[in-house]
Amino acid sequence: MARYTGPVCRQCRQQGEKLFLKGERCYSDKCAIERRSYAPGEHGKKRRRKPSEFGLQLREKQKVRRVYGVLENQFNRYFETAERKPGITGENFLKILERRLDNAVYRLGFAASRNEARQLVRHGHIEVNGSRVDIPSYQVEEGDQIGVKEASKDMKRIKENIEMNANLETPSWLQVNFEKKEGKVLTEPVREEIDIPIQEQLIVEFYSR
Ligand code: SF4
Repeated sequence: MARYTGPVCRQCRQQGEKLFLKGERCYSDKCAIERRSYAPGEHGKKRRRKPSEFGLQLREKQKVRRVYGVLENQFNRYFETAERKPGITGENFLKILERRLDNAVYRLGFAASRNEARQLVRHGHIEVNGSRVDIPSYQVEEGDQIGVKEASKDMKRIKENIEMNANLETPSWLQVNFEKKEGKVLTEPVREEIDIPIQEQLIVEFYSR
């Protein structure tokens, strides 16, 4: 399935909740959900029907897929990997998503949103352990050094993002040095620090049907 290229805010309106896909705007009164909380389209203002159990599971799956910007096939593969790992499948699954390089760049504060972080990675502005990595799905490991490439350190967007995020708390599994525009993966992601309410059990139930 191809990547969604339509209006970003439409995805939140379809979901019926904020997915924080646009950075700073999501926290302002310009947010589309604040202004038009109903679903998009001709029938959007009609009251939503109470979703079935399957509907709830599907909606949660779509929500997480949209938040992390992952294609359907890759999302399915992540779930299969999570199932094979020891431990709680739902948590394993979220940790795999958190360990994506684009997510780590966003969580370090170098990008305003995961979408922007994905672009920074794709366009070759990010290095891992001193080598350029342009694969947004790259899985970061404990001990990895993630940094902005030397030639990109003066990029206006990155500087603005760092200024905006300077006072935000970095998740405990990451360490950031804004001056050097680099960070380090200290440990594996911590489930409790995922900043969006996610009921991963619904996703596990979806795949267990
Ligand atoms: Fe979603 Fe952000 Fe758009 Fe609001 S501004 S609808 S949270 S993407």
